[in-house]
Amino acid sequence: MATRRIIVASHNAHKIKEIKELVSQLDLEVVSLSEVGDYPPVVEDGDTFQDNARKKAVEIARLCGEYVLADDSGLEVDALGGAPGVHSARFAGEPASDRRNNELLLEKLADCPIEQRGAQFRCVMALAAPDGQVEFSEGICRGVILFEPRGNSGFGYDPLFFVPELGLTFAELSSAEKNSISHRFRAMQGMLKVIMGLEAEKSS
Ligand code: IMP
Repeated sequence: MATRRIIVASHNAHKIKEIKELVSQLDLEVVSLSEVGDYPPVVEDGDTFQDNARKKAVEIARLCGEYVLADDSGLEVDALGGAPGVHSARFAGEPASDRRNNELLLEKLADCPIEQRGAQFRCVMALAAPDGQVEFSEGICRGVILFEPRGNSGFGYDPLFFVPELGLTFAELSSAEKNSISHRFRAMQGMLKVIMGLEAEKSS
């Protein structure tokens, strides 16, 4: 039996799968929010990824009395001044649609040559204790927005996000490959140090 349980404050099945894979080597039980109860959705109205991650983690940790990990992430496109950023999920409006978001992104970058199509995924993770204390960790992965989608894996903007060092889009990578370079992986690396610190505190 794992020594610590952490609840992931997300209903996004892709994200939860990725986070579970990222911590699979650790003595840690990762449980999704829907597995522990029926909590009201947290409104993500912050101006930054950090605000949103904090809000989700703290609100749910207070409600359920356990450690809660929340992440907020999105795509920041250089030529769009960092948009869609915190609005990534609903870039093309309601209801959220990956297909329409990707179409809108291509439309906005239609006149942009390849050398001006730089972008990055950013992920901020927040780990909240039941008493409201929060620790943060951030990860970034740089890439280029292609002119048309490629690949069928992943979610969101993955088919348009090309990683020059690999010569592939995120949607052409296996989940293990994506998990070894992604923004979420990089944020998780920092968060693992925080979690290990908690373990050390507990056993001292
Ligand atoms: P969140 O669930 O509020 O963090 O919204 C994240 C949104 O950013 C998603 O709906 C996607 O549109 C985009 N996004 C975040 N991470 C990824 C990723 O790994 N691949 C593709 N799109 C992502």
